[in-house]
Amino acid sequence: ATFGNLTDRLADTFKNLRGKGKLSPADIDGTVREIRRALLDADVALDVVKLFTGNVRERALGDEVNKALNPAQQVVQIVNEELIGILGGEQRRLQFAKNPPTVIMLAGLQGAGKTTLAGKLAKWLAGEGHTPLLVAADLQRPNAVNQLQVVGEQAGVQVFAPEPGNGVGNPVKVSKDAIKFAKDKLHDVVIVDTAGRLGVDADMMKQAADIRKAVDPDEVLFVIDAMIGQDAVATAKAFQEGVDFTGVVLTKLDGDARGGAALSVASVTGRPIIFASTGEGLDDFEPFHPERMASRILDLGDILTLIEQAQKNFDEEESRKVAEKFATDTFTLEDFLGQMQQIKKMGSLKSLIGMLPGARGMKEQLDNFDESELTRTEAIIQSMTRAERQNPKLLNGSRRLRIARGSGTSVTEVNALVNRFEQAAKMMKTVAKGGVPQIPGMGPV
Ligand code: GDP
Repeated sequence: ATFGNLTDRLADTFKNLRGKGKLSPADIDGTVREIRRALLDADVALDVVKLFTGNVRERALGDEVNKALNPAQQVVQIVNEELIGILGGEQRRLQFAKNPPTVIMLAGLQGAGKTTLAGKLAKWLAGEGHTPLLVAADLQRPNAVNQLQVVGEQAGVQVFAPEPGNGVGNPVKVSKDAIKFAKDKLHDVVIVDTAGRLGVDADMMKQAADIRKAVDPDEVLFVIDAMIGQDAVATAKAFQEGVDFTGVVLTKLDGDARGGAALSVASVTGRPIIFASTGEGLDDFEPFHPERMASRILDLGDILTLIEQAQKNFDEEESRKVAEKFATDTFTLEDFLGQMQQIKKMGSLKSLIGMLPGARGMKEQLDNFDESELTRTEAIIQSMTRAERQNPKLLNGSRRLRIARGSGTSVTEVNALVNRFEQAAKMMKTVAKGGVPQIPGMGPV
């Protein structure tokens, strides 16, 4: 995943400090040098690296480390705090207008993920009780209006698009009309999706600046693909000069980018990162928390985000029932199916597992993890009769064959699922009773 290599490098650096009762200036210089190299290799902008390592070095040489019981841990703490600083310090929430509608304009290069983000943002806002309107002001790309309509439908929100032949080619007019429409129809948030180009381009900047002037947005979000590498800083600066923006959205954090350039954007532009996007699905999206991202990069885990997602998607009553079933050994494949469907609502399993502390240690399993397996598992359970789901002991050879045929899988897969289910049920029973399960491959955190 993004930052994965950086995470590994930093972990190695810290490992070298472990067990040292006292750190000499030479130890600290060596550590700072390694951090510097790791950041540069991750594409973090040079100015940002200098600032970062300068601060770490100064603090590491100071008293807080010398006097600490465990100096290595203290260094990790300092790196964590400085990383949070580079990422913008405190969480910056989306700002709403005193007099609705709140206008949010999206800007960025083509392919950055603006249209996808528009849908994610709309869905998220609707979930928070808002009544967003999506505006198709990207009239450059032939398919953009259509794409926004599809996304709007998935998000269950209304899309304002120009009638063919009317206002086509004039995104400023479309945006203005949309705001009037939003006021009439009582939409409290308007999200304006603008056109991008493949590279920084004067026409694009002018158009975005014109739209900005015409709609006077409360937020202008600069959307940037974490995969674009070193170009990120120059692109961000160009957009800051050409349109200016109030916040940044990092997209494609699920990819294999080194990601460091994206890490530099907040520091270089002085604008906060407000959201992070981690996949193509509309739910693969979250408000950005600098401290959580830092702790993800340092592999300190991101339990808070995980818990929030779980809370949003899990019915408390339901969870209690399930826990009860685990404890009393009455959890069935039927329940398992229900749980799986709940988990799918939370986004991709890969991104969920990635938030656990020590997840880096499971990198290989994660890379080999096939999301389609979930769908196959579902198909297998759905091919079972009610009685079989309640009591897997019924599953003899001929029944397993029937299920394999019905679900388009093989008997081996059916067997594997039943075994896994039994193991999981056993493990969860331990947890439900207050024990700590042994998860193979997960070292101590
Ligand atoms: P736009 O040109 O800025 O509107 O970009 P789009 O929204 O059309 O996105 C371009 C491509 O990136 C599409 O294929 C999206 O599905 C994909 N995409 C957008 N956001 C993400 C993300 O967070 N992760 C991944 N993996 N893909 C994304």
